[in-house]
Amino acid sequence: MTGARVGSSLTDEQEAIRDLVREFAAEEVRPGAGEADEAESFPEKVWDGLAELGLTGLTVPEEYGGFGADETTYAIVNEELAYGHLAVATALSVHCLATSCIAEFGTEDQQERWLPEMASEGRPVGMFCLSEPHAGSNPAEMSTTAEYDPETDEYVLNGEKQWITNGKRGGVAIVFAKTDGDDERSITQFLVPADAAGFEVGRKEEKLGLRASDTTGISFDDCRIPAEKRLTEEGKGLSAAFRTLTGGRIGIASQAVGLAQAAFDEAKAYAAEREQFGGPIDDIQTIRHKFAEMATDISAARLLVREACRQAEAGEDNRVAASKAKYRASETAMSVTNEAVQIHGGYGYTTEFDVERFYRDAKITEIYEGTTEIQKTVIARGVLGQ
Ligand SMILES: Cc1cc2nc3c(=O)[nH]c(=O)nc-3n(C[C@H](O)[C@H](O)[C@H](O)COP(=O)(O)OP(=O)(O)OC[C@H]3O[C@@H](n4cnc5c(N)ncnc54)[C@H](O)[C@@H]3O)c2cc1C
Repeated sequence: MTGARVGSSLTDEQEAIRDLVREFAAEEVRPGAGEADEAESFPEKVWDGLAELGLTGLTVPEEYGGFGADETTYAIVNEELAYGHLAVATALSVHCLATSCIAEFGTEDQQERWLPEMASEGRPVGMFCLSEPHAGSNPAEMSTTAEYDPETDEYVLNGEKQWITNGKRGGVAIVFAKTDGDDERSITQFLVPADAAGFEVGRKEEKLGLRASDTTGISFDDCRIPAEKRLTEEGKGLSAAFRTLTGGRIGIASQAVGLAQAAFDEAKAYAAEREQFGGPIDDIQTIRHKFAEMATDISAARLLVREACRQAEAGEDNRVAASKAKYRASETAMSVTNEAVQIHGGYGYTTEFDVERFYRDAKITEIYEGTTEIQKTVIARGVLGQ
């Protein structure tokens, strides 16, 4: 990446990780991104490379062979990977949601069974199954049920999840289901291996962007899992999901910053080369102002991410800060990728240039892990003291 970066108050270790991931993203991730997007196929070789670097264990505690990354390191890795390819960063961040849930809520046996492999091999790949066809922004409206069978000491899962990242390539899922009654106080979190009988992967969605990332439905048809696979006490699942998602939102915000930075850098290189009216277009004041605006927006978004990380590391409640970061960073990704296409003119509208893919990819950052409207709801509630 080029250009001045703000927020350089990183430790030596964080800088070293940033440089490592930046190099990996430039050499191994970015070159195949366009092809993977066109083929709608996840680059598994890149995933294996992430595992070799230890990044699939980013949020796994060190005692289980993971990185035990702090929030800032988590954010930096997401930013640098998204600079290379958003679909790869998304897949990793969902895998990390799954490992975080096991690390935070699992028993010692569950942690020993799953975390070392998920960290060192990157497999089984993790999934996070919260959304449903009729329950997105309000997951409390979910209808998947988990009924306890005392005779076999098992739960029987029935229902349907939607929009599941890593749906086809995933091997283990964190699943939220209602255990008793119909209100949110009955939502419970389970760990469900994808090879459990009755765990069915639906068709892959065809999407505007993020096309190399597989997004599918997952349904449960009398899917029996031993009671020991319950991750939270009955009824404690939704608050656990929201806690996990606060960290997840910092990841998505960081990805949005990385994507915006990639678009900025492409536009900068293009504007220096492209000549109109007898000189490079980056001599034209209107174009120069676009760069001033984009650079300022990216810096502001990155600083909001860093503040959300700082609050988490200080043990403060960072829910509002995480929502501010996600809201601002995803809007920045949208506006910067839009301007990057504009600066490329007609060429930017073709698949010949990466900015076309960046523009399509950016939209998802305003939708998943809580839409912009939901982030504003969280922020308003916080700042109004409600
Ligand atoms: C590519 C992709 C990958 C995804 N990966 C995962 C995954 O791995 N796991 C998972 O569980 N989910 C995943 N999701 C789901 C994603 O988190 C949801 O799509 C998102 O939360 C929005 O839910 P919805 O699509 O049902 O929209 P809805 O909730 O139906 O919202 C529709 C519109 O109404 C607005 N709206 C809704 N309620 C309010 C309100 N109270 N105030 C203001 N506006 C409101 C929304 O902001 C939106 O604009 C993924 C989605 C996509 C597209």
